[in-house]
Amino acid sequence: MITKTDGFVLKSMRYRDTSKIVTFYTRRFGKIKGIAKGARGMKSKFGAALEPLSLISMVLYKKEHRELQFISQCDLVRTYRSIETDLEKMAVGMSILELLNRTTHDEEENALLFETVRTLFEVLESTQKNPMNLLYGFQLRLGTIFGFGVSLEACSVCGRSLESLVGDSFVWFQAGKGALLCESCADGHEVGSATRKISVATAQILSRFHSARIESLSSIQLDQRTGNEVDETLRSYMRYHFEGWKPLKSLEVLQRVHG
Ligand SMILES: [Zn+2]
Repeated sequence: MITKTDGFVLKSMRYRDTSKIVTFYTRRFGKIKGIAKGARGMKSKFGAALEPLSLISMVLYKKEHRELQFISQCDLVRTYRSIETDLEKMAVGMSILELLNRTTHDEEENALLFETVRTLFEVLESTQKNPMNLLYGFQLRLGTIFGFGVSLEACSVCGRSLESLVGDSFVWFQAGKGALLCESCADGHEVGSATRKISVATAQILSRFHSARIESLSSIQLDQRTGNEVDETLRSYMRYHFEGWKPLKSLEVLQRVHG
């Protein structure tokens, strides 16, 4: 059938002399792969619509259980100038798409996930500060969308609230359960290998990244030390839940530039 949907380009590679094979994350069909014939020709009708970091609208001949769909038309719906021209924003945008590609299976529609990414891109485009916060917020939302969301309001054993733990220096984050253990409960417990000791301040920031609206994520301020701890904690959370986890390539580029 001939059909139409919006999507983000996740990956694009050359195919034969003039074509491209492109992976999209679409609103209606989730992740799909398609072939765009003639996409690399001088007068290609696809123009710049097959590059990552833009929202596109496509027409495709869709066949069930076919690995490669035939893309007949692709138009830009939204370009993100600020993301394309700011190195840190670009790294965050590419990381979001990389995560999306790695954590989804072909043809599993998920309107909430699509809408989450679209909103993240709008906010990333307009934000003046803390673009990394959007990537942190996205990782926590991925957990919720895929059914292993965190619960960071209180110790999972004794129920003491995170707020009342401010006098303590540390809590333990259990990547498997996405839950917290206070110091006294961690004492008598088998904490397990996928458990990290983190500062209460970091737990509070993680909790805010989890519950804040996407529009408010970049106004959350954190110092470098907390930022590093948030980063490491989320990495261990992702590693626990997604098999064969590897560090994000899009972030390595940024880290190399920053030395
Ligand atoms: Zn406790």
